[in-house]
Amino acid sequence: MSTVSAAAVEACVASVVRADVQSTRAYHVGDATGLLKLDAMENPYGLPELVRQEVAQALAGATLNRYPAPDAVALESALRTATAIPTQASVMFGNGSDELIHLLIQATCQPGDVVLSPVPTFVMYAVSAQWNHARFVGVDTLPDFSLDMAAMLSAIAQHKPKVVFLAYPNNPTGCAFGIEEIQTLIQAAAPGLVVIDEAYAPFASHSFMPHVLEAPNVVVVRTVSKQGLAGIRLGYVAGASAWISQFDKVRPPYNINVLTREVAAVILRHHEVLDAQAQHLCMDREKLSTALKNMSDVLEVYPTHANFVLFRVGKPDEVFNGLKKQGILIRNVSAGHPLLAGCLRVTVSTPEENEQFLSALRKVMAK
Ligand SMILES: *Cc1c(COP(=O)(O)O)cnc(C)c1O
Repeated sequence: MSTVSAAAVEACVASVVRADVQSTRAYHVGDATGLLKLDAMENPYGLPELVRQEVAQALAGATLNRYPAPDAVALESALRTATAIPTQASVMFGNGSDELIHLLIQATCQPGDVVLSPVPTFVMYAVSAQWNHARFVGVDTLPDFSLDMAAMLSAIAQHKPKVVFLAYPNNPTGCAFGIEEIQTLIQAAAPGLVVIDEAYAPFASHSFMPHVLEAPNVVVVRTVSKQGLAGIRLGYVAGASAWISQFDKVRPPYNINVLTREVAAVILRHHEVLDAQAQHLCMDREKLSTALKNMSDVLEVYPTHANFVLFRVGKPDEVFNGLKKQGILIRNVSAGHPLLAGCLRVTVSTPEENEQFLSALRKVMAK
């Protein structure tokens, strides 16, 4: 038997795969080989030797031949000790919060139902809505990236979204929306579900987690990724058990593998290590912001409540490529939304790496 021609396969693909999938470019994760990676809000700090040894031990003892147990009891208990999740709230884990965003839409939206978000924001809300046949409605923020409340309220009244995603703090802007404004939106969106995405909670001064049971239509989504564990892929959603038990029905069984469970449980028992790292990053974030503000060619530096800084320059593509030539990878978000014109996003890192970035930026700007 001979292998079929590529053209024959292409013909089948073309007639079967969704047209919108075929016309989409794959989510681009840039090749960072040899570059200083300041593009993805990763924590630059490693773990102390003692914790690493505990991780190694837990992994050595992991039951690899069995499917994961249905309930991640040890993990959930470590998480609840490390985090202020209300005792009465239920928790469901996801393979990263990306998976949870997908599952929340899947559990709520029929084809054509609306998922709404202020934009610019995290792109996965729109992507997940599309793949679930929901309709994404983005409502522009004001130019300072705060909420346009009049526009949000009228869009909610018009579209009656099944789900409203609010990234708090927002990515890629770093902005923390007003607390009372969010409360107003929660009331206006009811019975629609408001998902507060707190991916950057470790770097923010306020959280909705303690208040998640105070309204009937709110859940809080979190991830350990930005906190220092991006590699293990673990997110969670907390809220009233009536919501969580419905989401749980669309969750693929065994979505959190045993290795992730073991590692996360050990490290969350040492959460003070991650907390201290987050505190350092918050202090260094202020230094980085100040240094950027002092550069005359940086047109604007936006206030941030996350572990990254958004800033505006005159020629974002030139600056981005110039930095890359100097071995530094940041994120060029300037084409992502009209309000982001000229904007670049840099992850806060160690003092040394922040300095490396700043001196490369000075060189690039001087040209
Ligand atoms: C990074 C990010 C996520 C994704 O987190 P994972 O758990 O790594 O999938 C979710 N929401 C926002 C706002 C983010 O910035």
